Parts: sequence; structure tokens; C-alpha cells
Amino acid sequence: MGIAFEPLLVKEPLQDRFGRIKRKLRLSLTDRCNFRCRYCMPEHPQWLPGRELMDREELLRLATLFVDNGIEELRLTGGEPLLRKDVVACVAALSRLREHGLKRLSMTTNGTRLPALLDDLIEAGLDDLNISLDAVDEGRFQALTRRPLAPVLAGIEKARDSGLPVKLNAVLIQGYNDDQILPLTHWAKARDLPLRFIEYMPLDEPGRWREEQVVSEARILDTLAARYRIEARPRGAAPATEYRLDESYTLGVISTVTRPFCADCDRLRLTANGHLYTCLFARQGHDLLTPLRTGESEAQLRCRIEQRVWHKDAGYAATPGPVDRPITMHGMGG
Ligand code: SAM
Ligand code: SF4
Repeated sequence: MGIAFEPLLVKEPLQDRFGRIKRKLRLSLTDRCNFRCRYCMPEHPQWLPGRELMDREELLRLATLFVDNGIEELRLTGGEPLLRKDVVACVAALSRLREHGLKRLSMTTNGTRLPALLDDLIEAGLDDLNISLDAVDEGRFQALTRRPLAPVLAGIEKARDSGLPVKLNAVLIQGYNDDQILPLTHWAKARDLPLRFIEYMPLDEPGRWREEQVVSEARILDTLAARYRIEARPRGAAPATEYRLDESYTLGVISTVTRPFCADCDRLRLTANGHLYTCLFARQGHDLLTPLRTGESEAQLRCRIEQRVWHKDAGYAATPGPVDRPITMHGMGG
């Protein structure tokens, strides 16, 4: 499959009205998932009909527009991106956007299909992986994800053996896995795998999230301090604040709820049905797929994207709390 658009000679970075330049796009390959994480989706989710999802050509055309407007890093997500049948071909096609200025092609996954697919994904051009691991205790893991732990551990092992850079992500929820802070840290540190704890965000089924279930960055650090010497690193533009433990291991905390990083946000999101969300907490997305399918020109699509990005809201820091909208995290592409 050829790349649809020629590279632009002059790149206009996408910028919002607060002066935040966009460099990263999260691209959802599917809203489907083989897990049922309770912080992410309803127990009985309604999947998008197949005909509403972007096919590979459409995905590539929209991704090209973003990269030609200054996006340098693409992260493939979902749902579970590895459930998409043509995921390897998607990675290969998107990897060719390096000719347009793409610097990094990453993926966030639950890891279960890595043993089958990772070699081909690396061959196709994948640069790095984030794998979700919320507990190293089987009972805790299943209570959160409603699925067994072993396939995820096998996926992590496969990724580690491959030599590809890997990070682990753990969402903490009070009463479910808050007792996993030290076990997860010991486990990841012993394997020298970077770990990031993520505060539970109000992005699941409406009405489910409660503030008291958030395990805050402060609480995570208190727990770690009982066992490790902790030194904070200066906070950069990345969402995670990094901490050195015993001067030998770096761990991150993504504290969207208690210390939002919206002022530096350089991200955009495109759902599997081609809707642009300028913020995780945006009330609405903007449909780019319908105009693409009805033949809108590249210049018109570019204009839509620029306008939408310009009007991006200040973010969670300005309007904290749950957002009233039908789409949950698995549909948004976390
Ligand atoms: N299925 C893949 C996975 O689980 O890694 C990719 C999609 S998942 C939506 C992306 C990330 O969002 C995961 O690390 C997941 O833990 C995180 N996530 C989902 N719901 C969340 C929530 N309500 N609060 C914080 N993080 C959440
Ligand atoms: Fe699936 Fe990932 Fe959501 Fe869990 S967090 S339900 S693995 S999309």
C-alpha cells in the first residue's frame, strides 16, 4: 500500500490557543479488547460496528496529515491494539511515515498477544512498548482485569527477551490493588523494567469512579519510602514524574488527578472510528473519517484538524472530576 500524501516541504506544527504545541498522537487501532478492566470499560461493552472503523488506508491517510503537521510520535493503543487482524501491516505502513518526520512508533498493550506477534512487529518497525500490569498477585490482577495473569507475564517476558525498550503501567485503585505498590515495584526492579504507577482517572463507566478510590502520588511515595530511599527528579513535559529509588532504579508516577500536567500537554488522540479528541477529558470528539470518506480535500481536512486543536480546552486541571459522555477509556484509546 503506498503512502497517500506527499511529504510537505514546510511543516506547520499544530498548536492550541494556550500555546501548547502538539507532538504526540495516540492512535486507537480498535475499541475491542480481550480484557474487561473495571477502570476502563463496562463489563458488557458495546463494540463499534466494523464498518465504522478506519481501515488501514484511512488510518494511514489521517496519520500522514498529523505527521505532516508536526506530530513526531505515534502511540498505537485501543482497546487492545494487538487484536486488530492487520496490526503488523498497520505498523509497517505507519513506520514509513519516518520519511515524513515521524521519530517514534510505540504501542500500549495488555501484552497477551506479544508472544505470537512481537517478532513481526519489530520487523515492521515498532520502536517500544508499554505493557499494562496492575498486580503481580493473581487474585488482585483478576479482580481488576477479570482475566488471568499468566498470559500477561508471558508477554512481558517475550518483550524483555526481544531487547525492545519496555515500560510497565499500573493503574492503582483503593481496595483493589493498593497493596501491590511494593510487590509490583520489587518485581519490576528485580527485572530492571521501568514501572509507572497511574492514578485512577474518571474515564470508566459513568458513575463508577469515586475520588476516594484514587491512590494518590503522595500515598504511593509514602508507601515506597518505607522500603526505599527516594529522590525526585525534575518534572519535565512527560506525564510521569520520575523518582530514583536507592539510586539504582527509576520509577514514574502519572498523577493526572492530584497533580495534573495539562499546562504542558503535547498530545492528541484519534479513536478507531476516526474521531479526534484533543484531550482525554474532552466532552466530544470531532469526526474526521466521514469527511475523509466523502472526499474532502487534504487542505480541508488539515483545516478541520488545525481548528479543532486550536480550541483545545485547558484540561483536567481547569475542570476536574468525571466527564459526562458516552465514550469510556477503551473507546478513547488510553
Ligand atoms: N489495552 C491496552 C492496555 O491495557 O495497555 C491499551 C489500551 S488501555 C485503554 C491504555 C492505558 O490506559 C492502560 O495502561 C490502562 O491501564 C490505562 N487506563 C485505562 N483506564 C484508565 C483509568 N480509568 N485511569 C487511568 N488509566 C487508565
Ligand atoms: Fe482492555 Fe487495556 Fe482497557 Fe484493560 S485497560 S480493558 S486491557 S483496553
